[in-house]
Amino acid sequence: MKAILSPYFDVEGPTKFLRRGRFVEHPDVAQRGNQIRLGLEEVGCEILFASSQLELRESILAVHDRGYVDYLEGAWSNWSKMPDASDEIFPNIFPNRHVAQFNHSPVALAGWYLADCAAPIGEYTWRNALLSVSTVLEAVFRIREGESAIYALCRPSGHHASQDMAMGMCFLNNAAIAAQEFRKQFTKVAILDIDMHHGNGTQQIFYHRSDVLTISIHGNPTNFYPFYTGFEHERGLGEGEAHNLNIPLPAGTGEASYLQALEKATEVISSFKADVLIVATGFDTFKSDPLGCFALESTSYNQIASKIKLLDLPTLFVQEGGYFVPALSENVKQLITGFENT
Ligand SMILES: [Zn+2]
Repeated sequence: MKAILSPYFDVEGPTKFLRRGRFVEHPDVAQRGNQIRLGLEEVGCEILFASSQLELRESILAVHDRGYVDYLEGAWSNWSKMPDASDEIFPNIFPNRHVAQFNHSPVALAGWYLADCAAPIGEYTWRNALLSVSTVLEAVFRIREGESAIYALCRPSGHHASQDMAMGMCFLNNAAIAAQEFRKQFTKVAILDIDMHHGNGTQQIFYHRSDVLTISIHGNPTNFYPFYTGFEHERGLGEGEAHNLNIPLPAGTGEASYLQALEKATEVISSFKADVLIVATGFDTFKSDPLGCFALESTSYNQIASKIKLLDLPTLFVQEGGYFVPALSENVKQLITGFENT
């Protein structure tokens, strides 16, 4: 399998984020990218780098709101011109339902477009997010030309980014942009999100559509990020009715229960008769992950990929989370091995 990497796959991520009311060290550290790359190399993937020359704007605007994209592009430059501005943008006010009115102040815009304090914007955020999109699009083009499977090592991740809001370390929704691009060639696209956290942004983007099936297996949001979405009753609306499936699982979920949930997901993908599959791939379901609450082993990813392979679809793996650095290379190796040996 080929792996496409962003040229910025190993840059330092943001410095901090707000967790349970405290600023803590941001878990999207440079070593994540390095360890995943190492695993991809060791398992024999051909490593290719995404081009920084791709024209991306049309693909991004096919999914994201223009005002939001313009904001992301100019956010840091506008913010940093303010006297005494911080090095990273954090919203210190959120528009609320009683007084909301659009306002172009850099502080007001941060509250408008950043849904939480886990997606700070720094000097290079826009550059990195763009190259993350380039990475996934390069993979899409290759699959459209006939490759059967590709791993896209995107950093930053994308699945929490909605049409017009960043959150949870995500700015541009790489998997959603890939799905929209796939639609130029394929009639039906399925997105299977196996990250620890609900793929709320992806759900929101396709919630009213029947051509893109969205499925997410994740920690029960009753007391887990992203808290407001990811429940079973969210099944899509209008034409999208029954084209969104959430499978929330309790803390402590191990391999056997997880594979049962995955079996249900793959049955739905088969019934949908998808032409192509995107797997939003997070390793934060690993037992030691600092942001997770499941109990998967490294070998679980072998089993997971094996089940996914049985769908027999062109498959694009898109990097989402996974923050326990010492296991990342082994986890990605198990995933690729399970997929290729099935
Ligand atoms: Zn996650």
